[in-house]
Amino acid sequence: MQLPQSVQTQFVSVHDVATIIHKIGLKTVFKRLADYIRADYLRWQDFEKCARVANHSKDGVIELMPISDAKSYAFKYVNGHPKNTHAGLPCVMAFGVLADVATGVPEFLSELTLSTALRTAAMSAVAAQELARRDSRSMALIGNGAQSEFQALAFHHLLGIEEIRLFDSDSKATEKLIANLRSTNLRLKVCSSIAQAVRGADIVTTVTADKTNAAILTADMIEPGMHINGVGGDCPGKTELHPDVLRRSAVFVEYEPQTRIEGDLQHLPADFAVTELWQVLARQALGRRDADQITLFDSVGFALQDYSALRFMRDAARELGLGQPVSLIPELVNPKDLFMLIHPETQAADESRRLPDFSAILASV
Ligand code: NAD
Repeated sequence: MQLPQSVQTQFVSVHDVATIIHKIGLKTVFKRLADYIRADYLRWQDFEKCARVANHSKDGVIELMPISDAKSYAFKYVNGHPKNTHAGLPCVMAFGVLADVATGVPEFLSELTLSTALRTAAMSAVAAQELARRDSRSMALIGNGAQSEFQALAFHHLLGIEEIRLFDSDSKATEKLIANLRSTNLRLKVCSSIAQAVRGADIVTTVTADKTNAAILTADMIEPGMHINGVGGDCPGKTELHPDVLRRSAVFVEYEPQTRIEGDLQHLPADFAVTELWQVLARQALGRRDADQITLFDSVGFALQDYSALRFMRDAARELGLGQPVSLIPELVNPKDLFMLIHPETQAADESRRLPDFSAILASV
């Protein structure tokens, strides 16, 4: 008799990802994630890419982000609902899958909410390593919600940022960040306005959530030599930067067709010149030109970073013996006989397998 082909999917939960961070350490996780992202971006041409598929509603968006190379297919399910936090839910929630291209078997299923915060921060740091001034030591962090600590720590560990200037329209979010990061070596300074936070900063990270075309950064706030890491403008009608900020900057993007729809770039004409980051990483285009240039990473979150994050979580979970197999796809003796799964005899056999182990019960009395 032909044995059924194993189609078990390895599942990594939120708890498993937290354990990976706890065991490996956040600094190493950021370093390894950045290495995975860089390695995948250097294989840019190997991937079949598309802008993500977005279903918009009044208060948010739900998106599917697919990508594949010859071996693996990945997708992420992710939402963005800025009002969610008022209802006790995160603004961003996600999970994703790595599948085998040759057979279509979904081999790995993972939480991606925590992982999205990690990969977004690692991606921001990879971009800043190419685009920010080497002597950057201070960063303004506008928006102190769920993503913010990860951004602060990735810039601390991967770029040597020592001082973070904080501003959020909700002072409780800033208090939460300070409490979470109090045991780090970062100098945290609370600012009373965005302009105060930005003044004199080497890097400016905007990571706010509001479903509107905001202009939290205006051109008059921008100083020569700054690097801007724009993270929160990631949806049509949901932006953070005044268009003049982009006009004053050299703009770098993940995947141009997607950023033209979703990024702060959506406010600029189709012929406004931008550079895809992979070109800089592959030394096919220049990053920062000189110490006075203003550089801007218009981040929206591209599927390739999630492919990298899924690869990293799969490998790290394997190394640490974490995760568990889940039965997502049926295992069939005859792959043409799906009906046998609901056949009464199969049901009866399944039921008998679920009966209590009476010998164990008897042995215990
Ligand atoms: P969150 O709701 O937890 O935090 C957002 C914070 O922004 C809140 O504390 C809010 O008070 C603050 N805020 C809103 N408007 C502000 C303003 N005008 N000035 C100052 N502060 C303001 O959300 P989050 O999970 O931290 O996500 C932040 C943003 O990042 C979202 O827009 C999300 O869609 C985006 N995001 C982007 C990527 C990417 O890859 N580019 C990945 C993940 C999240």
